[in-house]
Amino acid sequence: MAVRTIEVRERVMARNDELAAEVRHRLAAAGVTAFNLVSSPGSGKTLLLERTLAMLGAELPMAVVTGDVQTQNDADRLARHTDRLVQAVVTGGACHLDARQVLAALEALDLSEIRLLFVENVGNLVCPAGWDLGETAKIVVFSTTEGEDKPLKYPTAFQRASYAVINKVDLLPHLDFDVELAMANARQVNPDLQFFLTSARTGEGLAEWCDFLRRQVAGPVLA
Ligand code: MG
Ligand code: ZN
Repeated sequence: MAVRTIEVRERVMARNDELAAEVRHRLAAAGVTAFNLVSSPGSGKTLLLERTLAMLGAELPMAVVTGDVQTQNDADRLARHTDRLVQAVVTGGACHLDARQVLAALEALDLSEIRLLFVENVGNLVCPAGWDLGETAKIVVFSTTEGEDKPLKYPTAFQRASYAVINKVDLLPHLDFDVELAMANARQVNPDLQFFLTSARTGEGLAEWCDFLRRQVAGPVLA
């Protein structure tokens, strides 16, 4: 019985990897950079994306695919900042997005019109780390209201990510959260991680974040 379960899981993951390769191929052909945001629930992914759309949306054509277990609240919040290009995926209970869902969301987007794609994954630091969605890179978001040991408890999410956003830095004066320790823990599991310290609420650190995003978009931005 156990052996059979493993085989099914391997087939599912192999199929996901094929679909992720198709997503990656389409994005590359259209010159779109894509980031897959993974985090626990409540780290501030949606607010970070709202602020990003508000600050960069006029200059850099962006689209968002947002996954939620049950509602499309996040997509509704994001859609207020842009006329188009927000795709909601309601996973109906599933705790991560898979490449099939992203590929389906891409069908509804005109990739020739966008340069930057965000995938806001389901809030969950465990399995989203293991599913390739065809992204350019994963970005792990965690916040100062979480423990500094998050990277040690959920190492895969930090190992698979290229970038880490430590959000809610505006709350630091009220918390015992040790930023240096959190970064050291994250580097322990992934020495190559690049960090951003942000407060999506106050805007602290968002200028650096937006500069980074501009640099990730290759070539001139068409109006
Ligand atoms: Mg969200
Ligand atoms: Zn899952």
